[in-house]
Amino acid sequence: MRLKFVPRRRISVLSSLAVIATFTTASILLQASSAAALIVSSRTLRPTFHGTSHSKNTMRLFSENNDKLKDTTSTEASDANDDFEPKTWNPLRLMVMKLGFTELRWTSPLNYEKREGVYNCAYCGIDLFDSDGKYDSGSGWPSFWRSTKDGNVQYKREWDGRLECLCGNQKCSAHLGHVFLDGPLPGSVPRSILSEAPRGDPRGAREDGYLPRFCVNGAALRFQEWESKKQE
Ligand SMILES: [Zn+2]
Repeated sequence: MRLKFVPRRRISVLSSLAVIATFTTASILLQASSAAALIVSSRTLRPTFHGTSHSKNTMRLFSENNDKLKDTTSTEASDANDDFEPKTWNPLRLMVMKLGFTELRWTSPLNYEKREGVYNCAYCGIDLFDSDGKYDSGSGWPSFWRSTKDGNVQYKREWDGRLECLCGNQKCSAHLGHVFLDGPLPGSVPRSILSEAPRGDPRGAREDGYLPRFCVNGAALRFQEWESKKQE
């Protein structure tokens, strides 16, 4: 029997084709099996995942949280739109007005302020005192014997008996200082200004007794000069 001679070159080509065919077939089978496995797994897993009470509860929880978040956001938004925004973030002012600290005496420039104008709350901006009621008490803190109008300053008796004065704006209620009944005598201040003094200002029992002394932290005040007086 004579063996048929097959050239070496043809053998290498044939073997290469066989290898490629094998790999292609294997690849197709592998992809087909992967696809089948994916279809089977998706059909079995999907109903299980969506059908559990856990997933339903989770969805409800998310839903409730979202509703709560919406509620909170709307509440905060309404508060924010409630026309109050602090007018200062100065650390000294905040320490005095929100934590009740007392500034060092003689340190406030407003202690030496002589111009005519109004002293507004540094936190909310309402007018609290003015130059008509300012006087030099010698205490080292800006001092006034009257406030501007009823309700703009409120009072609170402290544990040690001192009378605290605070901003009368209920949304602010910043600490201002204290009131003592050792201010000037009524005869030493202009009668017209005295007659216009708010009836809510603290007074002693005697009508001719000492007027109040509002001992106020300068850090709680912002001075604004009266334009009309400035032009005169
Ligand atoms: Zn205020």
